Amino acid sequence: MSPINQEAVRNIDKIIRIFLREAKKRNAPVFRFESFNNEFEALVKIILSSRTRDEKTMETTEKLFKRIKDPRGLIEINQKELEELLRGVAFYREKARKLKKLAEILVERYNGKIPREFKELVKLPGIGRKTANVFLASFHKKQAIGVDIHVHRISNRIGLVRTNKPEETEKELQGIIPKRYWNKINKAFVAYGQTICKAKPKCNECKIREMCWYYRENMNSGERI
Ligand code: SF4
Repeated sequence: MSPINQEAVRNIDKIIRIFLREAKKRNAPVFRFESFNNEFEALVKIILSSRTRDEKTMETTEKLFKRIKDPRGLIEINQKELEELLRGVAFYREKARKLKKLAEILVERYNGKIPREFKELVKLPGIGRKTANVFLASFHKKQAIGVDIHVHRISNRIGLVRTNKPEETEKELQGIIPKRYWNKINKAFVAYGQTICKAKPKCNECKIREMCWYYRENMNSGERI
């Protein structure tokens, strides 16, 4: 098994604090993302956000929830109109289809409410591990790690994990990070990924670079970052 960055594991609390502080200074979109009127809106927003910029997701969710209020409203709305409302979000036709199915199941089986158990959530249309974990962590403050591209990429860069897929990253992080930090990881890492540790990272602005294996490896090889 490849080694992991134990220094970063020991300092995860500090890393989370720095990520949040630095991303706040730069007004990361994710900080505006977490305002929900109810749990259904929160879940829909998280589903729509997949592969879509937070600004676009927020704008679309706001438009949608001016038109509907709850799962029953989503059932009543016509598929074409729903697609129009979601246009601009990645895979909007597919998401429109899945959202309608989701609303039907919530009304039929759960009386319009949303289950709070991970195992139940991932059985629902349009809800994978990441969506379920982000929903539980952000809306219900449960200890869950939602791993998206930012969490996966930054965890690998720092050396917290050595993985190829987000599902592996989730499992590895659960094994090394104390549970009390789990529901803070997604927001902090996404915020940092939006502002500093982007696809092309701004390592020269990074306040944890002395701890980061990507930085050390690239500095040692003389590569410019
Ligand atoms: S040093 Fe660079 S790669 Fe490492 S966390 Fe900071 S920005 Fe990301």
